[in-house]
Amino acid sequence: MTCQHLIEFLTEYIEGQLPLSQRTAFELHLAICSQCRAYLHNFKVTIEATQKAFSDDPTDANPGDVPEQLVRAIMNARQAN
Ligand SMILES: [Zn+2]
Repeated sequence: MTCQHLIEFLTEYIEGQLPLSQRTAFELHLAICSQCRAYLHNFKVTIEATQKAFSDDPTDANPGDVPEQLVRAIMNARQAN
């Protein structure tokens, strides 16, 4: 697994949707790559901050759906840089 693959699988990994073989490859890469560990940490912080922001207004939307869309947008923006 490369850093690029890891970033692509990040959302699935956090949601527990990766098959075991990919999950293992993901965690193996994390073990050897401090860059991706930092990226994963920032990603989780972003999700938590987003969920907190949306939890103030539960009537707006399903808090399980909106943060993921937002996070994907953030990921796409980062990849463009
Ligand atoms: Zn990496």
